[in-house]
Amino acid sequence: MVIKSKYTFPIPQVSLPTFVFDSPTAELPKTPAYISASEPEKYFLSLHDYRHYAQRLASGLRRSGLQPGDRVLLFSGNTLFFPSVVMGVIMAEGVFTGANPTYIARELAYQLQDSGARYLICAENSLETGMAAAKEIGMDASRIFVFDDGIATFQGRKVEKSTEMGKLRHWTELLDTAENGTAYAWPDLRTREELDRVVALNYSSGTTGMAKGVMITHANYVANCSQQIHMQTLGAKYQERLPRKRYLCFLPMYHAMAQAIFCANAMKERIPVYMMPKFDFLEMLQYVQKYHITDLVLVPPVVVAMAKHPATKKFDLSSVEHVGSGAAPLGREVSEEFERLWESGSVNVRQGWGMTELTCAATTFHPDKRSESFSVGELLANCEAKIVLDDEGKLEAPQGERGEIWVRGPNVMKGYWNKPDATRETLTADGWLKTGDVAYVDEHDHFFIVDRKKELIKVKGLQVAPAELEAILLDHPEVQDAAVIGVTVNGDELPRAYIMPQSMDKATPETAGNIKAWLAERVSRHKRLDGGVYFIDAVPKNPSGKILRKQLREKAALEDTKA
Ligand code: AMP
Repeated sequence: MVIKSKYTFPIPQVSLPTFVFDSPTAELPKTPAYISASEPEKYFLSLHDYRHYAQRLASGLRRSGLQPGDRVLLFSGNTLFFPSVVMGVIMAEGVFTGANPTYIARELAYQLQDSGARYLICAENSLETGMAAAKEIGMDASRIFVFDDGIATFQGRKVEKSTEMGKLRHWTELLDTAENGTAYAWPDLRTREELDRVVALNYSSGTTGMAKGVMITHANYVANCSQQIHMQTLGAKYQERLPRKRYLCFLPMYHAMAQAIFCANAMKERIPVYMMPKFDFLEMLQYVQKYHITDLVLVPPVVVAMAKHPATKKFDLSSVEHVGSGAAPLGREVSEEFERLWESGSVNVRQGWGMTELTCAATTFHPDKRSESFSVGELLANCEAKIVLDDEGKLEAPQGERGEIWVRGPNVMKGYWNKPDATRETLTADGWLKTGDVAYVDEHDHFFIVDRKKELIKVKGLQVAPAELEAILLDHPEVQDAAVIGVTVNGDELPRAYIMPQSMDKATPETAGNIKAWLAERVSRHKRLDGGVYFIDAVPKNPSGKILRKQLREKAALEDTKA
């Protein structure tokens, strides 16, 4: 049974910059759009400024020799200028790729190499990691630029570093003059072929293997932003609510979810965004109260923290009207606990579901419908989905029955960067994306995500690819073979390793502890084996050598119920 969205509408056939800014010269608001949550009076950018910095960067990048299709990697937490880098690279006809700012050098080097980035724009406080990664892949210092927390840029200070590799210039060196920026007109793309050009490589491991560059095109980005905004416009109070809407952004913009919502959607809808460089629980609550935030974009661990932490009740959160959660599963019970923070009963947590490969989202809730279950809502406009029971997608599950969810629509990625095999395994010839998520659909066409068929583990909403950890573990002298799966501990998903040791007499708690600590030195924090290290006689595999993860998950569930 193919489920079609109830809604269709004509998606604008324009480039992403045109979608957000109308044109290179259109009159744009000069009121604050991106606002520093810590110093709102001093540091903010208007929509006009956002476009202007992006144009200056685009012009400067082209002047520096950036060719259409060249990749630029930004390795930084959120700053007021992060969106201008995203959009500036795209205006220059380059391809933006953002890396998780908590990455260690090896992880960053992988993305630098895999994307073949021409430039690395690296946060000042992560320069050591950035340089180590650049060195590992032989990237020249002249191609590394220092990105500050935004304040130095506002103050006109050029943070430059002399290093053993050579001089690293400040990112503002890439900005062209104000006049040239104003004059910079990004190309007016209209044809299918032009709009199918790639604008972003957002990294995701997809259903299997290592992280891959997900090719998102102008058409994908504009479609998905339009689809999400379209769902909002269906609300009876949309027009009335729009002028008072305010967002607080603390989710990382290198990831598809915050990138689409805050770099594009919010600006298209002219909604001010208060920016936090990173998540801090108490500061977040303070800012919600102080700035009368109306719309919260959350991930499940934040919903849980707000529901459970006694401090939440000390803040006046009465401005909040709408709460969305995505990126990982969220239980209904905790949502209800969260909703009880508002005595009026006016707040309802509505989940959305998506994937980097779907640009950002594929389902959300109609704004006038209450979420009373753990459903992730209904399909966005112009999308269709089916729940399939076999790998070929020939057996479709009837309503109410579980299977893998496949999605087709204008927001489905173009493919994986330089990975034709992985692309073929994930995208069918007729355009279906095999999501690797297990779902069912009810009689109202609401979707429920109940399991994951793919390898992917999500720790606090962040991706962990088992294949990456397994490859590292195989380098440990005591490890003969290894498999990593996700286990749920106190509601959190965590990576757990099953190790076949070189010799069974080494299968001791001490060795397990050593392996855990050894891996921790080689990965960023969220990838650590906090779900435990267990020994096993042999890693279960099928005849072609594929790890039978389902068996391990069943084993883990059994062990955990016994414990
Ligand atoms: P990412 O590409 O990092 O956005 O991760 C996408 C994956 O996160 C999906 O394929 C799901 O496994 C998971 N995910 C996202 N949203 C939800 C949700 N609302 N409920 C359950 N899982 C989700």
